Amino acid sequence: MSSNKRVLILAGDGIGPEVMRQVERVMDWLSARRSFSFDVGSGLVGGASYEAHGTPLTDETLADAVAADAVLFGAVGGPQWDDVAREARPEMGILRLRKEMDLYANLRPALVFDPLVEASTLKDEVVRGLDLMIVRELTGGIYFGEPRGVDTLPDGIRRGFDTEVYSAPEIERVCRVAFELARRRDNRVHSVEKANVMESGKFWRDEVTALHAADYGDIVLEHMYADNCAMQLVRRPKQFDVIVTSNLFGDLLSDCAAMLTGSLGMLPSASLGPADEGGNRKALYEPVHGSAPDIAGQNLANPLAALLSFTMMLRYSFGAADDADLIEAAVQDALAGGLRTADIMQDGMTAAPTDAMGDAVLGALDARAA
Ligand code: NAD
Repeated sequence: MSSNKRVLILAGDGIGPEVMRQVERVMDWLSARRSFSFDVGSGLVGGASYEAHGTPLTDETLADAVAADAVLFGAVGGPQWDDVAREARPEMGILRLRKEMDLYANLRPALVFDPLVEASTLKDEVVRGLDLMIVRELTGGIYFGEPRGVDTLPDGIRRGFDTEVYSAPEIERVCRVAFELARRRDNRVHSVEKANVMESGKFWRDEVTALHAADYGDIVLEHMYADNCAMQLVRRPKQFDVIVTSNLFGDLLSDCAAMLTGSLGMLPSASLGPADEGGNRKALYEPVHGSAPDIAGQNLANPLAALLSFTMMLRYSFGAADDADLIEAAVQDALAGGLRTADIMQDGMTAAPTDAMGDAVLGALDARAA
């Protein structure tokens, strides 16, 4: 039986449209061979939307995003919009999408492909086979907490302040995402905070412990202080399966984990929102990299981060883990064949433009499907 998955593609600016073109080729390949196909819509976002409509995200495009089964996002921004008013800047397009879709759980995998082991600054044996997932709370915590500001005390001393605050439901919903992910992986979760020095950290730990006892006794839960986690990520990253943490700690730890893999051009992400009655979540998938204005329009961008974001979509929005595995294996094949975009170039490898990397992945898919 065929079923159509409604996907909205918001390619954005700079290299966004270039990398997304390669993803669409793989979507077409899959549609031609699988029981489901994609009902693909597209829209403008970021600078492209600003040029056409004077705003980085129109209400119509936002409505399309909310109505879609999943959104595939490229990248936004560029120096030509540096002087645009803050509320109309390209970045506001993605921030508004995250807010309006209530995308509270940000998933950042750190996956090391064997042919790229040398791209990491860490030793081969530390990162070979690495496959961990960081779940970062994305809509709460110190980046949004009140009160915040800069004021002057009665004695004339000026100060700046922000507030780290998490409610029990905010902790519960992001930790549920982490526990449920762990069930599909290696059944292990590290919950990361600073319960030793922060009230909100102690509260986070108590809430996770209670949730685990109530509903997730089958998962191995460990608690870890954020500073130790940063150290362990570079010392012995393979000890981790799923890490769940606050917005602030997740911001730092996910960038640290990303660098274990070596290149921005290989890093996908997913942002998940609340589930409806049918269990379907609002979801947006995007490469971690930006619009790379320095290489835009030159067919130089690595399309693999965008493609791996699409495999996350298959896995987490469409329950198509086999197809996600197949595409990831094809990526591995393409890399093993020696092709490299400039960002992951190594001695002895062959320089490949964006579309040649797409060709190589499609060739590997054909070979695997034969
Ligand atoms: P960037 O990620 O765009 O680029 C950083 C460096 O990495 C550049 O040298 C770039 O050429 C390279 N790079 C990035 N992606 C690559 C890829 N797929 N293949 C090969 N090389 C790649 O970050 P930046 O330069 O700090 O920002 C550029 C613009 O992107 C800015 O306007 C920024 O605001 C925006 N940005 C947007 C997002 C987003 O849309 N989510 C994220 C980060 C930055």
